[in-house]
Amino acid sequence: MLRSVDGIKKVIEAVETSCARYLYDGLQSSRLPLLAGDVRPIDPSTIESVSALRKYLVSVKVPAHRNALSLLLNADHSLAVEQYRRKRYRDGSIIPANNRPCRYCPASTESELHALFECSGLESLVQRRGDFYQRVVDVFGSERLVERCSSDPLITFHYFLDHDDMGPILAKFVYDILAMFPLQLV
Ligand SMILES: [Zn+2]
Repeated sequence: MLRSVDGIKKVIEAVETSCARYLYDGLQSSRLPLLAGDVRPIDPSTIESVSALRKYLVSVKVPAHRNALSLLLNADHSLAVEQYRRKRYRDGSIIPANNRPCRYCPASTESELHALFECSGLESLVQRRGDFYQRVVDVFGSERLVERCSSDPLITFHYFLDHDDMGPILAKFVYDILAMFPLQLV
């Protein structure tokens, strides 16, 4: 196979396809709820699609805000859903996701989408979310997408992420919300 140009091309294609599949399968981890699933239009068989430069990496100009988005997307943050994943019960067993409670309200999981769109246990958080929703109304001229933050939060999050105007606004929101959930010694 490696004795002809066509053969070498086929090997390169096979390596690229395998690499794309490996990366795509890695994204399907339950640890990455914002990246898993079919929310984003990714073709798992092509490396160009799987490893494409994401729009927010260009549209979000403030490094700290871009970094906050990356941390949230890659589950490298201070929310309990991730921090308790790194802990174990005394007997060594895993702490289930539904027992990684929110520090501000009775919710059983302090998840990414809970912190952004659901939690009402902290007044400053509710206020900050209200400001964010006002920006959404300003950009789109209606309440429709504000309502979708509750009814369809994951898809709406990705819609904002890929939107030229909303990407930076979402990034600042994520930055501010993560600051309200500092790392705790659990
Ligand atoms: Zn909460």
